[in-house]
Amino acid sequence: MKRIGIIGGMSYHSTLQYYEGINRIVNERSGGMTSADLVIRSVNFQQYYEWMQRDHWELIEKSLRNEAWKLSYEARCDYVAIATNTMHKVAECVEDMLSPPNYNRGDVRLVHIGDCVARKCYKAGIGRVALLGTEFVMSEKFMKDRLRQNGLEVVDNFTESEIREINRIIFDELCHGKVTDKAVSAFLNIAYRANHRDIESGNAGFDGVILGCTELNMLVPNESIMVKPEYQSHFQFIDSTEAHIERLAELCLYGG
Ligand code: GLU
Repeated sequence: MKRIGIIGGMSYHSTLQYYEGINRIVNERSGGMTSADLVIRSVNFQQYYEWMQRDHWELIEKSLRNEAWKLSYEARCDYVAIATNTMHKVAECVEDMLSPPNYNRGDVRLVHIGDCVARKCYKAGIGRVALLGTEFVMSEKFMKDRLRQNGLEVVDNFTESEIREINRIIFDELCHGKVTDKAVSAFLNIAYRANHRDIESGNAGFDGVILGCTELNMLVPNESIMVKPEYQSHFQFIDSTEAHIERLAELCLYGG
């Protein structure tokens, strides 16, 4: 079995899903009392949140590189994962730190959440997607580019107010463990409306809507097919948390 290192706590609500999910899959596949070889480094999210608000991404980068180094070097993990989409804004710097010549173990890999999502979409036959998440994930290019590099067509048609509303729901509600009916319907309506706009402008609509924030699955049942006749919507949700968990469990069991 390989050892998986997780940088979590952003928020702790989603990190709990990683702990439970990876262990559940590993145990289902191996039986008996088997559980996953995991090391979780749960950080103080308030600190990272303040850095994000002040646009101090250089401090976030330094801190995540340091956490990844501790997981790989001190805790001897074989794979490292960052259990949030937003923090993947600095993923390439973490990947770089783990690669030779910067790091002489050279065999430790960052398991990028975007690669896991793309893999899941590919298996489900999904090619044309929309990406929902924090303002950083939706407005910036780092995650969309990673998905595109993996062969997905990412439609980018959300309005600024829709992006702000989803960002607000994530940071003011979901990261505090709060789920309201109002947030569920606001969120679903944003996804339906964007798909409708896509169809209205002559396209085929989305095959999938990516829950590109590790707390968004608190709002919608996993990977259900969503149909709303008035918006002619028919797409599947792809949960980034689930995609990451499934891949990490596989790597824990079989490497790769
Ligand atoms: N967990 C969220 C994500 O997947 C947001 C929290 C964060 O800023 O890391 O993006």
